[in-house]
Amino acid sequence: MLSTLRNSVLWRFVEAQTITCTTLRIRGYQQQRRLNTTTRIFSEKYNIILMGSPGSGKSTVARILSKKLNKPSIDIDNDVLEPMWGKKISEKLKEKGSKAFIEEEGKALMTVKAENSIISLTGSNPLHDEAMRYIANTGYVIFLDYPAKGILQRLHKMKIDRIVGQEMGTPLTDILDHRQSTYEQAYDIRILCEEDESPESVSEKVVQALKVLEEDQGYVSTRQDVKSVSPHERTTLGEILLQGLAPDGGLYVPALQIPILTKGEWSRLVNVGYRDRALRIMEKLINPFDLHPSKLRLFIEKAYNSELFSDEKIFPVRHLQDNQFLLELFHGPTGSFKDGALQLMPQMFVDALRHSQPMNSSRYIILVATSGDTGGAVLDGFRRHAEGSGVGVIVLFPEDGISEVQRLQMTSMSGGNVQVLGIEGDFDLCQAMVKRAFQDQDLASWLAANGNFKLRYKNAANSITWGRLLPQIVFQVSAYLNLVEQKVISLGDEVDVCIPTGNFGNILGAFYAQAMGIPFRRLICASNTNNTLTEFINSGKYDIRSRQLQKTQSPAIDILKASNLERFIYHMSNRDHQLVRKCFKDLEENQCFEVTGQLLEDIQGLLVGKWCSEAECLQTIKKCFDKTGYLLDPHTAIAKFVADLVNDGDVPMIINATAHYSKFIPQVLQALGRKKDMKEKSVSELFEMAHKITEAPSMHSRLEECVKSASTCEKVLKPNYEDVEREIKIFSHKI
Ligand SMILES: *Cc1c(COP(=O)(O)O)cnc(C)c1O
Repeated sequence: MLSTLRNSVLWRFVEAQTITCTTLRIRGYQQQRRLNTTTRIFSEKYNIILMGSPGSGKSTVARILSKKLNKPSIDIDNDVLEPMWGKKISEKLKEKGSKAFIEEEGKALMTVKAENSIISLTGSNPLHDEAMRYIANTGYVIFLDYPAKGILQRLHKMKIDRIVGQEMGTPLTDILDHRQSTYEQAYDIRILCEEDESPESVSEKVVQALKVLEEDQGYVSTRQDVKSVSPHERTTLGEILLQGLAPDGGLYVPALQIPILTKGEWSRLVNVGYRDRALRIMEKLINPFDLHPSKLRLFIEKAYNSELFSDEKIFPVRHLQDNQFLLELFHGPTGSFKDGALQLMPQMFVDALRHSQPMNSSRYIILVATSGDTGGAVLDGFRRHAEGSGVGVIVLFPEDGISEVQRLQMTSMSGGNVQVLGIEGDFDLCQAMVKRAFQDQDLASWLAANGNFKLRYKNAANSITWGRLLPQIVFQVSAYLNLVEQKVISLGDEVDVCIPTGNFGNILGAFYAQAMGIPFRRLICASNTNNTLTEFINSGKYDIRSRQLQKTQSPAIDILKASNLERFIYHMSNRDHQLVRKCFKDLEENQCFEVTGQLLEDIQGLLVGKWCSEAECLQTIKKCFDKTGYLLDPHTAIAKFVADLVNDGDVPMIINATAHYSKFIPQVLQALGRKKDMKEKSVSELFEMAHKITEAPSMHSRLEECVKSASTCEKVLKPNYEDVEREIKIFSHKI
C-alpha cells in the first residue's frame, strides 16, 4: 500500500515537471529522479548528500552524521578526487583552470557508485548539471545554508586556495553569491544554519529534518483522531487543495506539530526580501514530496513581484501613531488582503490538479458566490495563474449587495477562464444558486459527458482551504520581521496583533505564526456589529440562535459562522477531535455550542475579543485621518477602534490594514464629512476627490484604472436557476 501510494505521489512529480520545465526555466533534476524511487528515507539504498559553500562544514557534519546514523561517509574531495588525480585539489585547479576543472570534477562524481552513504559534495559540484543530476538521483540533497558572513570569516581564517573562480581573481563574495544561487536551485531540504552554529547542532538538524520527511507531513481532519491515522493514510497537500473541506465535514490541519524556528533561524530571515522569507517559511511547512522547493520558489516569484504588488516590500509595515503600526495588506491587484493568498493558491491548485490525474484530463469549474472581496481576488488569481490549465471560475454576485468599486472590478475581469454573473437578488440568493448547482446531478452528468468536468463548490477557493492559510502565515510572520528590520523592536520582543475578523482565517495565520515561534503576545480579534466572536471569546458561548446577519459598512466581516474557528479550537484543545466534532455538530444542529474550563481560560489567555459599532467605525476613520493624515478603510477602522480600546502601550501593536480605502470610497468620504460634495458623482469622480485629500496611503492605481476605464462587460441574470445552469454549460466550452 505504502509503495503504491508513494508511487503515485512520485509519478505526479515527474508529470508536473515536464510542464513547468518548458514554461518556467527550471533545472529540474530534483523531480525527474523520483521516477525510479519508491522507497523512502533511511532505506537501505538512499544517500544523504550534503551540499553547501566551501567552509560550511560539510565534511565535519558528514562525519558526525556517519556516526549518528551508522552509515559510511564519502568526502568527494578527499576520498574521490585527490586519490583519483593523485594530487591536491588546488594544484589541479591551477593546472586546469575553472572550466576544465569543473568538467573533470563532474566526470569524477559520476563514477561514484555509493548507496546508503553520507556524501559530502565539493562546493563546486553543483555547478556541473549532469553530475549533479546523477548524484541527486541517488538520494536526498541537503543544503547546509550558512550565513555568508560566517563563511567568509571562516574561509579567511582557513586560507583556502582551492575554490573555483579564485584562481582568476574573482572576489570571494561574488563567488559565494553565485554559488548560493546555484545551491538554491538544487536542494531537497534546506537546513537554515545560524551564525556560528556548531557542526553538532547542524547535524542534529539534518537528522530532525529527515525524521520529518520519514514521518510524512500529511494532513488530517479536525474531526479525526490524529493518532488513529497512520502516516500513509494522511491526506497529501494536493488532495486537500482539491478537496477544500474534509469528507467528514472537518477542516484539514497538518498531522505533525507545527515546526518551530529558533531565534538564530529567524534572524536569518530579517534582512531578506519577502519572497525569500516566503520560501523559507513555507518549505518548513510543506513536504517536498508534495511540492518541491524548486517549484514553490517559482510559484512565489510569480505571485509576489512588483508587477502585481505596488510596494516593493509586498506587505509593508508603517508607523501610524504612538505604538501602533499598520500592516498594509492591500497592495495586491484587487486591493484587499485576500490577494496575498490568492495570487499563490491557484498555482498550487493547478499543480495539484495536474498531479492528481496524470491519466485523465478532468477539468474544474469553481463556483463562487461572493458578497465582496473574495470574488475579485479569486477571479484575479485564477485568471492570472490558471488560464489554460483546465480550471475555470464563475463568480456570482448580488446586483444590489456589493460596492460599486467591487462590481466594476469584478465585471472588468470577465473573460478567458473566468466569468462573472450578476444576479438580481441578494447574497443569500447567489449562495443558494451555487449550492443548487453543486447538488444538481443532471448538470454534473452533462458536464462529465461534455468535456469531463468537475464542479467545485466554493470551498475549493474560500478561506477554509489550507492553500489560503499557508500564505497568510507568511505575511503575519513577515510583519513581525519587518518591525525587527526597521529596528522598532529586537528579535524576541513581544508585540500585539489586531485583526478585523470575519471567517477567522487571517487571524489564524497569526496564530500559526505564533506557533512557529513568533512572539505575538495577544491576538486581538476585532468584529463589527456581527460580534459573535466577541461574545465567544469573552464567554465561551458561540450562539447564533437569536442572531441575524446585519449588513454593515465592513461587509467582508459580516459573518455569523466563522469557519476557521474550528481549527483554532482543535489546536487549543490539543487536537481533541471529539470535542471539535461535538462543538461543530452542535453549531450545525442547534446553532450554538459552548467551551468552558481550562480550554476557555487558554483561549482567553491568547485572544482578546472586542467589537465596534457602525457609528464608531466612521468616527474612527475621521479621527484617524485628522490626527495622522492616513485614510483607513472601514475594516481597518474596525481594527483601529478595537486596538485603541485594548492598547496598554506596553508593546508595539500591529494593526492589519486589510483593504485599500478606495474599495469603499463612498463610506470613507462620508466619514470625512464630504457627503454633500459626493452628490451625483460617479465613483471615478470620487477617486479624484480622494486624490486631492491625501496620499497616505497612495491611491491604488489598478483600482483607479478600473473605475476610470469602466470597460466592463456585465451580464446580469434574473434570479432564475435555469439561467445560471445554462451559463455554466456555455462557459464550460470556453475552458
Ligand atoms: C476577508 C476580509 C476580512 C476577514 O478576513 P477573515 O480571514 O475572513 O477573518 C477582513 N477584511 C477584509 C477587507 C476582507 O476582505
